[in-house]
Amino acid sequence: LITTGTIFRKNISEHTMLGELAEGFLKQGKLVPDAITNEVVQNRLKEKDCAVGFILDGYPRNITQAIFLDTFVFLTHAVFVFLPDEIVYERVSKRLMCRCGESYHLVTKPPKKSGICDVCGQSLFQRVDDTPEVLKVRLESYHANIEPVLLHYKEQGVWHEVDGAKSVPEVREAI
Ligand code: AMP
Repeated sequence: LITTGTIFRKNISEHTMLGELAEGFLKQGKLVPDAITNEVVQNRLKEKDCAVGFILDGYPRNITQAIFLDTFVFLTHAVFVFLPDEIVYERVSKRLMCRCGESYHLVTKPPKKSGICDVCGQSLFQRVDDTPEVLKVRLESYHANIEPVLLHYKEQGVWHEVDGAKSVPEVREAI
């Protein structure tokens, strides 16, 4: 599983050059420029483990990235997890994260001990871009960019839609 957002966040917390380049964009809820993101993904896909297959999560997010990806791989499936904005707000505003990668939701998946990760015991935190103000920018960017990407994969015959409003096990099963 290759999650571009996680790659950027890891680089930010490790103060790498990539992290420094990406940080401002993540904080504001804006897309990291395509030239940077494309290079990150292309380099990651060159690694050995990807030879047997991979899942890209959060990439491509616009048509430029999708066209770039086509220059070196063919996707077998593009899964669009559809979720209305109201539910995105509900999920994201009550989301808590752990540095180990686990995530929680105050209503549907609360940690056993408030503010503490069930898996590793570290303190939970809210993502800096999960505030209502930044989420608004992220959703605007999403709506401005996604249509041509969906059309692109429909034309390639690899597009699938999954209802993201269902429960986690149901969404997992559908995917
Ligand atoms: P996510 O974890 O998928 O919500 O991504 C968090 C942030 O990382 C986004 O708001 C962007 O700033 C950046 N990001 C992740 N994936 C991409 C992408 N494919 N293109 C540009 N920026 C991205």
